[in-house]
Amino acid sequence: MLAWRAVKIPLFDMAAELAQVRLSIDAAIARVLDSGVLIGGPEVAAFERELAAAAGARHAIGTGSGSDALHAIFLALGIARGDEVITTPLTFFATAGGAARLGARVVFADIDDASLTLDPRAALAACTARTRAIVPVHLFGAPAELPAAPCPIVEDAAQSLGGGPVRGAAAAVSFFPTKNLGALGDAGAVLTNDAQLADRLALLRSHGARPKYHHVAIGGNFRLDPLQAAVLRAKLPQLAGWTRTRRRHAETYRALFAAARIPPELRLPAPHPAHVYHQFVIRAPRRDALRSALADAGIGTEIYYPEPLHLQPCFAELGYRAGSLPIAEHACREVLALPIHPALAPDAQAYVVDQIAAFYARA
Ligand SMILES: *Cc1c(COP(=O)(O)O)cnc(C)c1O
Repeated sequence: MLAWRAVKIPLFDMAAELAQVRLSIDAAIARVLDSGVLIGGPEVAAFERELAAAAGARHAIGTGSGSDALHAIFLALGIARGDEVITTPLTFFATAGGAARLGARVVFADIDDASLTLDPRAALAACTARTRAIVPVHLFGAPAELPAAPCPIVEDAAQSLGGGPVRGAAAAVSFFPTKNLGALGDAGAVLTNDAQLADRLALLRSHGARPKYHHVAIGGNFRLDPLQAAVLRAKLPQLAGWTRTRRRHAETYRALFAAARIPPELRLPAPHPAHVYHQFVIRAPRRDALRSALADAGIGTEIYYPEPLHLQPCFAELGYRAGSLPIAEHACREVLALPIHPALAPDAQAYVVDQIAAFYARA
């Protein structure tokens, strides 16, 4: 149905975002082609240095994706069959998948209703003698509170680059094209202040080979391509400005909603000074009707995420039921992401809020 409707305000606008940095991207690609170095090499090393500096981390290790970054961290921490990893059910699959692939049992703890991030008290209550890691997700770009636990904290920072320094053992970052810093395809990185962990990750991302063709550990191919590294180097200097624009858009939404006639059942995201607004996610009890009214008005929205992870078919054997984690399940029925990308047209947000107000005026 959506295909033939004119989308006036898309949720993302990759072409417009890329146009802002097109010349430096073209130059970066040309540099890689001219160098002939297509795996590893100076572009990856330079990007890792620049990313670490920008993110306030001692080490950055490029990976093939954010999913690879999470998986590689769990592997580097020695997580294996029989271990338990605690995380939130309201996240992208990779947060849990990277640990489950190693045979670990994923334990889901409920979220905090205001922040939508892992409730640190629920996470601590789920700890057992087998718990090997807790994985808070800085969902939508809002910093999750980290539990004070006696096991490593792995931050899923896929949506929160630029929001603050690494606080746990390591943080996984994603450069999926629509993330706040996007590559031209899949790419990711691990940020850590732990030199030993960084060294282990560098080993594991190239099949545990040291030196080449001498394998001291079983890793995988989790490498970042130099082509993506070069493109990310071209875009990285813009990240701080893009984050400022996202924050300004969030304030504009707050002002527009405050001035509009909107019933209190519609809730805005909890503000936080370190929020980088990867998404601006409202909560609406009549979400599906609202979403379809916005689609009719040419406004792109998305549901992150329609089904919590503890109820996914692949985790059926973990034994969760509808009602096991009620706060997350309720949130899944209400969340709706509105357009907030940096290339948003100046009058777009007023139109979005007008259309939402019109929906409630009709309803
Ligand atoms: C995007 C994302 C990932 C995975 O990153 P990819 O680069 O797509 O593999 C993991 N966790 C969260 C919360 C994400 O948003």
